[in-house]
Amino acid sequence: MKTYDYLIVGSGLFGATFAYFAKQKGKKCLVVDKRPHLGGNVYCELIEGINVHKYGAHIFHTSNKDVWDFVNSIVPFNRYTNCPVANYKGKLYNLPFNMNTFYQMWGVITPDEAMAKIEEQRREAVAALQGREPANLEEQALSLVGRDIYEALIKGYTEKQWGRPCEELPAFIIKRLPVRLVFDNNYFNDAYQGIPIGGYNKLIEGLLEGIETRINCDFFANRAELSALAEKIVYTGQIDEYYDFRLGHLDFRTVSFEQETLNKQNYQGNAVVNYTECVVPYTRIIEHKHFEMFGQAVYDCPKTVISREFSTEWKPGMEPYYPVNDDKNNELYLKYKALAEREENVVFGGRLAEYKYYDMAPVIEQVMKRKDNV
Ligand code: FAD
Ligand code: UDP
Repeated sequence: MKTYDYLIVGSGLFGATFAYFAKQKGKKCLVVDKRPHLGGNVYCELIEGINVHKYGAHIFHTSNKDVWDFVNSIVPFNRYTNCPVANYKGKLYNLPFNMNTFYQMWGVITPDEAMAKIEEQRREAVAALQGREPANLEEQALSLVGRDIYEALIKGYTEKQWGRPCEELPAFIIKRLPVRLVFDNNYFNDAYQGIPIGGYNKLIEGLLEGIETRINCDFFANRAELSALAEKIVYTGQIDEYYDFRLGHLDFRTVSFEQETLNKQNYQGNAVVNYTECVVPYTRIIEHKHFEMFGQAVYDCPKTVISREFSTEWKPGMEPYYPVNDDKNNELYLKYKALAEREENVVFGGRLAEYKYYDMAPVIEQVMKRKDNV
């Protein structure tokens, strides 16, 4: 008899949600994480009364009512609506691309004027495609919004974020940026969005309530001993590491953060300001209090915490944040996936094990889909 039904490697949203449903089914779980805290990338540190998103800004958004109801049953979410602003050469533009942006860019007032301007801007790029699909991010962006917006708001930001020219990046990355002919700065098209009231740690604590956990516990430092404890393993770490990198390393992008506590109440008036110019070394500045403090509450809290985000080439040992889903890496992932499919007692899930650009809600959705078979 094993001590646990499941050994869950990784206490991020995949591992924590899996543990929650397994417990509901009467299964006994042990959740281990190599970091000194639980929660994976959604972990927040409380500084000066502000929940600081230690692994980058996290905004929960979904149109899946079941997922929304589920997370709200664990902890109620606030009404935060993501409306990032772009700073290009000291001038501010609203995102996502909408009537405010078009007004700021071209002085156009009506949707018809904006449409005509976009059509004029797109014409050259669409003609160059000669009927074929955009083959890279630059072609995709130019045929979506044209050169002015591409040069000011997309090219520099994207090349900083991904560390390679837009011509070498896949088109799908930019498809996530909506274009709207209304004055609507809400970044997401989803029906629901927000931040857990009291921060993401409350969500993780709620999911893991009553479940045994060990932090500072690297699966690979005690692999045999830990594996022997449970009938099955849920693995949410890097899939290439699970197989000792025997087929090669998968590439990632990472982000480094320069965090500062400032002796002022309000630094930039918004949670997210993107710096889209190539010469500014960081991609964006996050002011964390604006995720959870609104109106007077911003001024009732005397300090503020900001993080400058620098996108960095990943090397082994750094935090693996964004999978690089180019052809070379996707092919390598498929080879690892084929090995994983042969495992009878291991579930591979989440961003690192599935080598997939998952947002939080789809991660939870993936676990909810399989919850009856836990
Ligand atoms: P993770 O949160 O990465 O958890 C994996 C855990 O496994 C980690 O805690 C790690 O320490 C642990 N682990 C790995 N290897 C081992 C090992 N060998 N032994 C023990 N433990 C191990 N999503 C949104 O919806 N909205 C956003 O605004 C958003 N912003 C993001 C910003 C950034 C910078 C990043 C990187 C991601 C963002 N995401 C966002 C995505 C979100 O973080 C993920 O969808 C979610 O965290 C995935 O959960 P996970 O459990 O798969 O992975
Ligand atoms: N993007 C951009 N300018 C911006 C913000 C985003 O060009 O000011 C592009 C960039 O290519 C990025 C993509 O849109 O990779 C998706 O950005 P988003 O912020 O939606 O996703 P993230 O990668 O931060 O999760």
